[in-house]
Amino acid sequence: MILDIVNYGDPVLRAKGAAIKEITGEIKQFALDMIDTMRDANGVGLAAQQVGRPLQMTVIDVADVEDRPSTMHVGGQPVDLEKWMPLILLNPVLTLGKTKESGTEGCLSFPDITAEISRSESVSAKALLLDGTEFEFEATGLLARALQHEVDHLNGILFIDRMNAATKVALSGKLKRLQKEMRG
Ligand SMILES: [Zn+2]
Repeated sequence: MILDIVNYGDPVLRAKGAAIKEITGEIKQFALDMIDTMRDANGVGLAAQQVGRPLQMTVIDVADVEDRPSTMHVGGQPVDLEKWMPLILLNPVLTLGKTKESGTEGCLSFPDITAEISRSESVSAKALLLDGTEFEFEATGLLARALQHEVDHLNGILFIDRMNAATKVALSGKLKRLQKEMRG
């Protein structure tokens, strides 16, 4: 089922997600609906807040983005991305690598807005999978960026909070319009 994506201005985007304590059938269905919704919107990631539910759950799929490659390591070994995408991560926690790089980001809750955002080049992630197993992996490239963007969402943090001041000023008209549409 395709869910409605909420836009900037909706207070749910500022809510910290509640940890998922029990993986019920309803949670599993919600995860599948989130994947359908992400694909329908041509996104590479979606957080539960973006469909109106403040929960620690995100879905990511970067396998088809050929011009922005990613790597993924499980147990120290490189793995085939295709086999692991889409990722469904519950209660994810990231450890950020020290080296930063700038890259273009958009967000499904900010239609028509993209900006250069500085993020860690690599991350280590720990999360629960939908079957309840604990999963640890390392990521670089677009996957590392998507993980940081989505885990921010789960904590009520938006990519505009990570923009430099000049970028935010340049986008202020568009951001105001988005907020107005939400209220209107
Ligand atoms: Zn986003």
